[in-house]
Amino acid sequence: ARRDAELRARAEIDLAALRANVRALRERAPGAALMAVVKADGYGHGAAPCARAAVAAGATWLGTATPHEALALRADAGVPDDVRIMCWLWTPGGPWREAVEAGLDVSVSAPWALAEATEGARLAGRPALVQLKADTGLGRGGCQPGADWEDLVGGALRAEAEGLVRVTGLWSHFACADEPGHPSIAAQLARFHEMTAYAERQGVRPDVRHIANSPATLTLPEAHFDLVRPGIAMYGVSPSPEIGTPADLGLRPVMTLSAALALVKQVPGGHGVSYGHHYTTPGDTTLGLVPLGYADGVPRHASSTGPVLVDGKWRTVAGRIAMDQFVVDLGGDRPEPGAEAVLFGPGDRGEPTAEDWAQAAGTIGYEIVTRIGSRVPRVYV
Ligand code: PLP
Repeated sequence: ARRDAELRARAEIDLAALRANVRALRERAPGAALMAVVKADGYGHGAAPCARAAVAAGATWLGTATPHEALALRADAGVPDDVRIMCWLWTPGGPWREAVEAGLDVSVSAPWALAEATEGARLAGRPALVQLKADTGLGRGGCQPGADWEDLVGGALRAEAEGLVRVTGLWSHFACADEPGHPSIAAQLARFHEMTAYAERQGVRPDVRHIANSPATLTLPEAHFDLVRPGIAMYGVSPSPEIGTPADLGLRPVMTLSAALALVKQVPGGHGVSYGHHYTTPGDTTLGLVPLGYADGVPRHASSTGPVLVDGKWRTVAGRIAMDQFVVDLGGDRPEPGAEAVLFGPGDRGEPTAEDWAQAAGTIGYEIVTRIGSRVPRVYV
């Protein structure tokens, strides 16, 4: 069944590129440890293989959003036990005891989470490794500065004194690191200094203080602290056009998405193409059917705009992208059925990149790679 699927379409994952990217990122932040962010199934690239490759290239931490992602990595990814794994997106009633037993670092932004982590530690019979998250200005997760932070730090230190918690980290996340020079960056750094200094004055002795995602790892040495947390750059995709292309950044795209043409046929001019007939053939032409659709993560917003390389030429999606397939107008070319259509890759063969698809769909490269669906086999090379 897998071979069948691979004949249709595949996402090739170049783990040597991922390792090279991790090494390049470590060179950008030589004084800091590196946490490889492998949430959302490694941004669509496969969490476990990417985690192993990142560790082989020197990552000493792994990061996920949900505790289930982190528990699965600890159980099945085959990474050494001394690789720390942190997860940050908890909801009440989560698997705190299992997380403590697995030795995960857990993020805590609020008193309810500290109480549940502490209870998990009681049940597990060992301290919870707690990283206190500060909202330094992102306005998403994290604890607000001022009285809320003072309460949270105080509560964590009391739990530490009881032997139920070890405060292993103080951390935060940027809102606009992908827009160099944005005034919120300096404001968040200043707030991070204040909030970590307060916690340290109270007696917190963290293993790590960290705030840098990919763009901050690449552009803001003053944000590196003890550890950097790149995700997207590790996969060789640019965080934003302002930060640069992957090549500018010394990064190599890891995923190549391709498919075999499922049908090649001649049609006359004036022929409507795909749902809604948003494309009409301008004259006699050849249509190629690409067996990938929005169920596979090809964004429907890229209907009539997404680029595809067929037979050495860029073609554009003709009309609407459907659930499982879309059409390209091949003009005068007549490739054989089964000919390769490359949606995106590193660009060396002239194919489009994930950034090109992001632009075509009005989104970001993150979404392009992360949404590639489970029906597309990942082939590791
Ligand atoms: N840290 C946290 C808390 C995140 O949520 C993410 C991803 O959004 C990252 C780090 C990695 O960010 P990026 O992919 O921009 O490097």
